[in-house]
Amino acid sequence: MDEQWSRGGLPALPEMMLRGAAGRCPACGHGGMFRGYLRVVGRCAACTAPLGTMRADDAPPYITILITAHVTVGVLLLADRQAPLPVWLTVIAFAALAGIMALVLLRPIKGMTVAVLLRLAGQADEQDRGPHPDAARDDAAADHQVQSERG
Ligand SMILES: [Zn+2]
Repeated sequence: MDEQWSRGGLPALPEMMLRGAAGRCPACGHGGMFRGYLRVVGRCAACTAPLGTMRADDAPPYITILITAHVTVGVLLLADRQAPLPVWLTVIAFAALAGIMALVLLRPIKGMTVAVLLRLAGQADEQDRGPHPDAARDDAAADHQVQSERG
């Protein structure tokens, strides 16, 4: 373990989502996120981020079906308008297209979902800790400025 996990100092959400889509730890980008096709490791091997506690539940399949269905139906309607196929061929071709798309998309979408959950967990922790020390200093400086303007 080259660095220890801390919820402060997480990268920006788009970077975390890209790392998750690539199957890497959203926090450090070094450790792998998956053990097998979809099982998330308990902790990142590189930074110990608790990836296994981020419960994606039904979000990845939901998003995958949403995308796959829209693309498949769009292609189906276009193909039918351009060159109508026999029904049996249409059913086989689009079932295969939908199945392949879902299998290809599900893992990166799960990675991105875990990245979003990790980011939200980090933000919740920051809010639990109260305002940032710099914010208090800024408030004190603003109060001082208001008092000096009045006096
Ligand atoms: Zn990591």
